[in-house]
Order: sequence, then structure tokens, then C-alpha cells
Amino acid sequence: MKPVPFEYEKPGSLSLAVSQLSATGVNGKIIAGGQSLGPMLNLRLARPEALIDIRQLDELSRVQSDEKTVTYGAAIRHVDFEDGLVEDATQGMMRHVAGGIAHRAVRNRGTIGGSLAHADPAADWVNTTIALNATFTVLGSTGRRTIAAADFFLGAFTTSLNDGEILEKITIPRLSDQAAWGYYKICRKKGEFAEAIGILVVDPARGFARAVLGAADAPPIVLDQLAASIAESGTAKDINLEEAVQAALPDASPVSLRHHSVALQRAIQQVYPS
Ligand SMILES: Cc1cc2nc3c(=O)[nH]c(=O)nc-3n(C[C@H](O)[C@H](O)[C@H](O)COP(=O)(O)OP(=O)(O)OC[C@H]3O[C@@H](n4cnc5c(N)ncnc54)[C@H](O)[C@@H]3O)c2cc1C
Repeated sequence: MKPVPFEYEKPGSLSLAVSQLSATGVNGKIIAGGQSLGPMLNLRLARPEALIDIRQLDELSRVQSDEKTVTYGAAIRHVDFEDGLVEDATQGMMRHVAGGIAHRAVRNRGTIGGSLAHADPAADWVNTTIALNATFTVLGSTGRRTIAAADFFLGAFTTSLNDGEILEKITIPRLSDQAAWGYYKICRKKGEFAEAIGILVVDPARGFARAVLGAADAPPIVLDQLAASIAESGTAKDINLEEAVQAALPDASPVSLRHHSVALQRAIQQVYPS
């Protein structure tokens, strides 16, 4: 199938992109890498009257860093993380995650901002940014606002972006030298979306510990208490993980529970091998 006809805009600045998006109202859509939107256009699941292309905007491809954080422009591609072309705030975690997204052809064009705005619960950046306690900056015609990653995802494919707003940048707190992370996803085939994602990030120097269950047909589930107990004892031996996962996913099928328990267990083992 082919998309419905649409106008194509290629603004020269972020402020022009915002005004073009506001002018088109609900009938306009941002396109970044087109890796999720392209198929939706072809299947006519999305029928925008105008597409505003943001790929070429320098403002969205910048990296700014300070002592505590690194801020990534929303149009930075997966491959830029994978190939180490941008600074990694996370002791290699973002690089590892990026390299596991889809196939190289998708990573060549897909962007971190596009993935977050699309909000697929099984998307790697969706889960990773929550695990890292990221903050998102969005820009609309009335100005900028910041949103914690945990408040950004309202449901599967639903975010707190208002009509006319563009996700501009993603701020990641730096992991300290003492930090450790584990990231494990279960996929049917390499390059496919995950059936289950388990993440553990522990950063004692910042008093931060977070576990995340992802790809559960809902926004990522944060298990801070569980992560804190594991970080405190340095092991998950005394914790019944299956029970903890079942409590977090009461409606999941036995297969999904098993997948999520195993994904989380393996992420924990990456942090605390025993
Ligand atoms: C075969 C295949 C396999 C894949 N496997 C995986 C996988 O294993 N893991 C994974 O995480 N992802 C996977 N993906 C998705 C991929 O990561 C996409 O790159 C990503 O979901 C969308 O990024 P994009 O830049 O292409 O966004 P686009 O497709 O251009 O846009 C997606 C949506 O976000 C909106 N949007 C884009 N940028 C912005 C912005 N800055 N502000 C506001 N709205 C915006 C668009 O309007 C659209 O609604 C896969 C995709 C394909 C085609």
C-alpha cells in the first residue's frame, strides 16, 4: 500500500519546525528516522496531511555535557550511540543498548527521540531511559517543559507530549565509576522487538538503584524497592524473583511471567555474577 498524499516540510530551524507543527494542528506529524512512521504511513495507520522532517536539524543532533549529566538531541541516531560517535554517560550501557536495536539498516536512520515519542513498550530506549532516570525536554509554541521519563510514557504508544510539541532532548544522569548495569532482552530472533526486557542499574556513589521490567504491553515497570534490596545485600539469592515479577505483572500469562523473570534474573547476574 502507499501513504495518503501529504505535504512535506523540511524546516531550517527547530523554531520553524515548531511553528509548522503548530500550524498543521493534529493533521501534522514529525518525521525523524521514519523507521516506525514509514510503515505506519504505508499501511495507512497514520494519515497525516503534513510531515515535518527534523532529521537535518543541528539543534537536535547536539550533545551537551556537564559534570553530572549528558544531554542528547532527539535526532541522534541509534548508530551514533552504537559506534561511540557521541559521549556515553553510562559506562557503556547506552552503547550496548543501541547496538541491540533491530538491524544496522534500522539503526542507521532511527533516532532516540523517534523511539521515545513512538513509545512502544518493547522499545529499548523507552526502557533504558526510565532505568537511567532520564529527563526529557519538549518544546512547543508556548515554550519548553521538562518531564521525567517515568512520567512521559502514559501507556503503550501514548506519551504526555501535547499536540504541537516536539521532543527536543534527553538528559541522562552520569553513572559514576562505581556504577554497574545489567541489560537483558529476550527476543524470538535477533533484530526483533523484545518479548521481555530486564534491567538493573546500581550506582552506590549516587545512592541510586533501579530495576525495570520492560516489553510488558504497558509502560516500563520500575521496581525500586527490589533494586534497593539487591544493591544493599549485593545478591538476589534471598529474593523470590518470580514472586516479585508476578506481583508487578498480575495479568501476565505464565509464559510472559517466565520471560520477564528470566530477563530480570540475567540482568541481575550481569551486575552481581555469582
Ligand atoms: C524491522 C524493525 C525492527 C525494529 N526493532 C526494534 C528493536 O528491537 N528495538 C527498538 O527499540 N526499536 C526497534 N525498531 C524501531 C526503531 O528503533 C525506530 O527507529 C524507532 O522506533 C523510531 O525512530 P525514528 O527516528 O525512525 O522515528 P519515526 O519513525 O520518524 O517517528 C516515530 C514517531 O515518533 C514521532 N517523532 C519522531 N521524532 C519526534 C520528536 N523529536 N518529537 C516528537 N515526535 C517525534 C513521529 O511523529 C512518529 O509518530 C524497529 C524498527 C523496525 C523497522
